[in-house]
Amino acid sequence: MKYLGIDSVRPRIAVFELTGCEGCELQLANKEETLAAFLDAVEVVNFREISSSSSDDYDIAFVDGAVSRADEVERLEVIREHAKVLVALGSCACFGGVSRLKNAFDLNEANREVYGDRPQETLPVRAVSEVVAVDLEIPGCPVSKDEVERIVQHLIWDVPYHFPAYPVCLECKQRYTVCTYEVGLLCLGPITRAGCNAPCPAGGLGCWGCRGPAVEANAEEFLTTVHERGFTNDEIAERMSFFGGFEGLLP
Ligand code: SF4
Ligand code: SF4
Ligand code: SF4
Repeated sequence: MKYLGIDSVRPRIAVFELTGCEGCELQLANKEETLAAFLDAVEVVNFREISSSSSDDYDIAFVDGAVSRADEVERLEVIREHAKVLVALGSCACFGGVSRLKNAFDLNEANREVYGDRPQETLPVRAVSEVVAVDLEIPGCPVSKDEVERIVQHLIWDVPYHFPAYPVCLECKQRYTVCTYEVGLLCLGPITRAGCNAPCPAGGLGCWGCRGPAVEANAEEFLTTVHERGFTNDEIAERMSFFGGFEGLLP
């Protein structure tokens, strides 16, 4: 059986990192109770966090991190050439992530401020899909290992997998969390794609939108509602900009 051009026998996987904290990669190496099964299902040929092998012969490339340097553009183009399936892993890869915040500033000034007389070459931050074609995007900061495992099963054995279309609020209510709006805290749960099981509202933080917009997110109605609750456009835009997933929907 083939799916997306891949034989359903132990595909060779590679994991690469661009600009980010590599926390999404670390998620793949975590969760010991399923790690052995995960490593039985795939052949890891390039993944510097867990292996010393570095082959360019792979079926699936997971790319973690955003693109922020010219050498990353070149590297990504080579990865794209080698990979049958390229997966953007995590919010940095899918949207630019927290690094995308720097696009709102004068990069030369920021470079001088941070590096003084040793400026570093840097580009405006882009998502992986803004540079090369991407076959699948797995959002989250970090990604959920459960979700990645289900997606790997989908890629290898064609096990059906669908990202939740509904927003975080639904999972939040399923776990009986008191809504943060009841205590005056902003939350992007109504417009953010579910799949994380709403840990941030449960922790009293409200959702910061790391998984990007839910399908058919009604940003207009969301803004009306949060304005009625006293939040300003600046507060809302700051929250929606944090992971870079809401560009085009900002107030
Ligand atoms: S999405 Fe979050 S956890 Fe993943 S690499 Fe970026 S900053 Fe790190
Ligand atoms: S806390 Fe956030 S995610 Fe939970 S119900 Fe309220 S708005 Fe929705
Ligand atoms: S609740 Fe929001 S910020 Fe927290 S993990 Fe889920 S999508 Fe990300």
